[in-house]
Amino acid sequence: MTRTAFTNVRIFDGSGADTYLGDVLVEGKRIVQVTRLPERVSTDDARVIEGRGRFLMPGMTEAHTHFSWNDQPSLAAIQFMPPEEHMLWCVRVAKRYLDMGWTSAIGAAAAKPRLDVVLRNAIDAGEFPGPRYLAGSQEITTIGALGDNTLPHMKFEELSFGSVCSGPEEIRRSARTFIKYGVDHLKINLSGEYIAGLPAEMSPFAEEEVAMLAQEAKRYGKRMAAHARSSESVKQCVRHGIEMVYHASFADEEALDMLEAAKDKHFVAPGIGWLIRTTYHAAEFGITEAVATQMGYKRELEIASASLRAMHQRGIRILPGGDYGFAWMPHGTNANDLQYFVDYIGMTPAEALRAATQLGGQIMQRPDELGLLKAGYLADIVLVDGNPLENLALLTDPAKIQLVMKDGAIHKDCATPVPDDAALHLGGTSSPLVEEGVKEALAEML
Ligand SMILES: [Zn+2]
Repeated sequence: MTRTAFTNVRIFDGSGADTYLGDVLVEGKRIVQVTRLPERVSTDDARVIEGRGRFLMPGMTEAHTHFSWNDQPSLAAIQFMPPEEHMLWCVRVAKRYLDMGWTSAIGAAAAKPRLDVVLRNAIDAGEFPGPRYLAGSQEITTIGALGDNTLPHMKFEELSFGSVCSGPEEIRRSARTFIKYGVDHLKINLSGEYIAGLPAEMSPFAEEEVAMLAQEAKRYGKRMAAHARSSESVKQCVRHGIEMVYHASFADEEALDMLEAAKDKHFVAPGIGWLIRTTYHAAEFGITEAVATQMGYKRELEIASASLRAMHQRGIRILPGGDYGFAWMPHGTNANDLQYFVDYIGMTPAEALRAATQLGGQIMQRPDELGLLKAGYLADIVLVDGNPLENLALLTDPAKIQLVMKDGAIHKDCATPVPDDAALHLGGTSSPLVEEGVKEALAEML
């Protein structure tokens, strides 16, 4: 069994506890020993990564990704990307997340029916590198609501951004269709969204429609996620057991009480980066601060900041990530959310990092084996040059993410020098995945 020892590293174990210097030993897919100096792990037969005091933390979980969003300035650019290019795009983006230390991700909705499912299967089969991934459906929406971009001349189902349903029976049909495709969870758009010209505070679904979604999800053992900016939509999430609540900006006192009473069940992934970057960092793409204010985003950011602070104080789980994949917030810059959590929600840096790690293991439904640096846990590990607790922005810098391990296998390694002969054969890359591929190819030739 392969053994890897990280020696003399500053350990952030994911729980939020203070860091300490120590060693971590990985055997096969799992962490088998974590020590505190002066106690050391045995490095016999192990590949040794000399930490030299660098920061070691669990891999991060992005709680609200859309790999099929294509870093363009509009929803239309996503909707009309042809399926062939779109699949390849998703494959490339998945690697980008892993490169940046996101070793797990929740697909919060795909732009075409099977993009997420096919990507998840390819990653699971080891065909392409990417985070552990839970696949979402398209956005289930209703007539005229967020995700209904259809016009009468559109003939092909795949051109519709969302799956447009009206009435419980159509919801049932849509839910069963996505379940047939193999999704892990169903995504429903329970509120509006300003950039689509719809008030964030609208709640377009009737109670019996949401109840039908919940009934079908339960029957097939699937989870649910919801785009839920309005207060009423947050309440619908709690009433119908929709675990993953995205945004929750306008949650009023009653919604906060409901979430708090069920806080062991629900996760809130606000995607606060979207509100901040659309308000203050999108001018280059025509959304100046004045435009964003007129659209409603500045007001939503202020209200969301207050309601999210209240949620954090009530112990409701808030996770980073959300809606990266636009021109003003491209995929890979997701760790910006961590500093936003400190600035807008009142978390400490350690709480923000815990939200990305330990809480990530929980939303991935593997709380006992994912999200902590602890013996017995899966070896999803990131080595960082510098201390993110002093500067969270380090986690947005590819050069500072020096090593990424998933499932005990090193995906990215800029931490150890590349031997000359490897550099010669591999064009300078140090990726062990490539090395393995080359070895296999050579073995076949001989
Ligand atoms: Zn989203």
